[in-house]
Amino acid sequence: MLVTFANGNRVDLSKGIDISLPLTDDESNPRAWYVDLPRFEPVRTDDWVGVVKEGGGVNFRNIFFNPHGHGTHTECLGHITETVYSINESLNQYFFNAVVISVSPEKKDADEGTDEVVTLKQLLPLKKYKTIEALIIRTLPNSADKKSKNYSSTNPPYIDVECLELLDQLEVKHLLIDLPSVDKELDGGVLAFHHEFWGVPNNQRFDRTITEFIYVPDLVADGEYLLNLQVAPFENDAAPSRPVLYPFL
Ligand SMILES: [Zn+2]
Repeated sequence: MLVTFANGNRVDLSKGIDISLPLTDDESNPRAWYVDLPRFEPVRTDDWVGVVKEGGGVNFRNIFFNPHGHGTHTECLGHITETVYSINESLNQYFFNAVVISVSPEKKDADEGTDEVVTLKQLLPLKKYKTIEALIIRTLPNSADKKSKNYSSTNPPYIDVECLELLDQLEVKHLLIDLPSVDKELDGGVLAFHHEFWGVPNNQRFDRTITEFIYVPDLVADGEYLLNLQVAPFENDAAPSRPVLYPFL
């Protein structure tokens, strides 16, 4: 189905590119923050079982998972405020003009060893855009193991807080990245980027979201897309989400 926008841009709604990761209960599920794998467990009572193969009428499973630790999720400022504001309330528009940019995080000396950091300099090519509603950062190398990696204790790359100067200029509202966090894994609880991005505590931005643990396939070239971003409607600071990109024709 072809759709033409007022500015002449066209997309084919049948050609969406899913940049979320599926949630499963085996080792192929990615994770971070020291959580165990998700669990999918059939409901069992004394006289009934939620497994068709075992004689139940339906498959009926409880699922235990952590939105932040187990795959693609979108979060709002409620992630770091005393009040657990809801992503389901914060995200109430679902289509955005998006830009994909690929960057190789730069090595930087840290207290213990070396960090890899997305720097402002690497994002400067974005200045050619006047504004960007949703910015999608693909880190390089874009190896397939990102889709199933256990990031706990690996000190993954993160975004330098200085990048916010540019993100503010570009009026970025939604930031998506293929890492478990925009901040350093162990930073003593500072979460500098999260706080600056959401203006917590002094200039709170309820209209900004962060989506982590995406995977942008290599077939997606850097540039502009239409993004459809929706969350499962959990009243929680974060919820599983499915970002889908539509290339402009
Ligand atoms: Zn998170």
